[in-house]
Amino acid sequence: MTVKSEKNGYVYLIGAGPGDPGLITLKGRECIARAEVILYDYLAHKELLSFARPDAELIYAGKVGGAHNREQWQINEMLVEKAQQGKVVARLKGGDPFIFGRGGEECEALVEAGIPFEIVPGVTAAVGAAAYAGIPLTHRDFTTSVTFVTGHESSGKEVSGINWPQLSLGNGTLVFYMGMKNLAQITANLIVHGRPSQTPVALVRWGTRPEQDVLTGTLADIAGKAHQVGFKAPAVIIVGDVVRLRDKLRWFDARPLFGKRILVTRATDQAGVFSHLLEGYGAQVLECPTIVVTPPESFAALDEALHALNDYDWLIFTSVNGVKYFFERLFELGFDSRALGSCRVAAVGSKTSEALANHGIRPDLLPSGFHAEGLVEKFAEQGVAGQKALYPKADRARDVLPRGLAALGMEVVVPVAYRTAIPDSLSAEALEALEERRVDCVTFTSSSTVSNLATLLGENRLIHLLRGVAVASIGPVTSATCRELGLRVDLEPEKSTIEALTDAIVTQYSSH
Ligand code: SAH
Repeated sequence: MTVKSEKNGYVYLIGAGPGDPGLITLKGRECIARAEVILYDYLAHKELLSFARPDAELIYAGKVGGAHNREQWQINEMLVEKAQQGKVVARLKGGDPFIFGRGGEECEALVEAGIPFEIVPGVTAAVGAAAYAGIPLTHRDFTTSVTFVTGHESSGKEVSGINWPQLSLGNGTLVFYMGMKNLAQITANLIVHGRPSQTPVALVRWGTRPEQDVLTGTLADIAGKAHQVGFKAPAVIIVGDVVRLRDKLRWFDARPLFGKRILVTRATDQAGVFSHLLEGYGAQVLECPTIVVTPPESFAALDEALHALNDYDWLIFTSVNGVKYFFERLFELGFDSRALGSCRVAAVGSKTSEALANHGIRPDLLPSGFHAEGLVEKFAEQGVAGQKALYPKADRARDVLPRGLAALGMEVVVPVAYRTAIPDSLSAEALEALEERRVDCVTFTSSSTVSNLATLLGENRLIHLLRGVAVASIGPVTSATCRELGLRVDLEPEKSTIEALTDAIVTQYSSH
């Protein structure tokens, strides 16, 4: 039933781009963020949904009207229906909505229903896949035109809608969409109608994604090659002399970690930065959080300290989460940063220091290393007997720091600011990849990432699943935990940062 609403519905037809989520337009992203309902396609990258409002209704278009009998009219109807309910609707489509995307039909339905809409273009698969394969679709020396063609025509059709003689003439670049099933027919048609059989062809599958796969050949042999290696959709077929340029211009799949699957085990809210670093080198990252970060069971101890901050000489942070939860609670209690007053601030780790900088605080003490031990040494140099320190920490943090400082005669108050816990389960996708031996490298960025993984899998299964998988550990403490659990550590950077860990991984794979 259609419910009429006072509020007017609106539809954004958005091109999500070909795969790499970074290829969405700024406007597309803004519209996703504005939408109350998002109807998305199989080819639109799921990461784009993270721009949505938390309360947005997310509908997978492949499921509209049942998984197998989805019809375009059902999608059109749903768009109209949601807009008539007064909703702001984002229709997120792979590539560009108006290139083989049936966006035209969806717009017609909106016009007929009198629903206002906007079209946000996207990078179409031909353009994205060609760019990431290092194939310029036009080039002054090779071709003056490019044509996008559907390869989806049924071969039994008596009169082809495609003008094969015209397409086959000259040297214009051709890009076929949805053509993998008909590849043999397409190449044969082009040869029969006059394209030289030695014309280069590239098949680009999952273009712009970490799993991009490119197969090159000629009109004469590409179908056989594709059959041999089982090359499947979704792929574009690029035909023309420009394909030769790939040898020289190839970049995306020439990066050091391209094709490498790397498991990132840190907590979800911290994984992003690391994942992006690895992806920048071409890695395919599988996030498999082994830690969940939650507020403490009780804020009593922290609150008491926050109300008496003036009593403290030092405030100590050893993690980004420590900073985050400390300030969140401080603000929740109605204080602001001035509450820190004359407290001096000490921090361990460059990321912790950055988190403090985001609150306008420059640490008075920042040891050059990344471990609590370094801070104890610094304090020892200063002489801190009789001084009082507040150290908001994780429930299961090592007690090196409190013990070390107590030994120096400091009074240390250690309220729990956040808890780290073991998640209920591991990412199914990551587990499947491990079981199928598709993971090249696993990264551990703290001791608990290792021990939690062992707890979740069981020690025997951990060792079994990580056999043949390179283990990259952020530093000596984490490595020790790995070894205690029977794992061999293949990589450990000199500096315990995710940047250094990334560099070590890149160096390892570049030298192979
Ligand atoms: N509107 C989309 C096309 C949808 S038709 C666009 O503008 O890109 C679906 C076809 O697009 C697939 O069969 C395939 O040929 C192509 N395609 C979509 N994404 C692709 C990708 N990442 N790599 C290669 N081909 C892709």
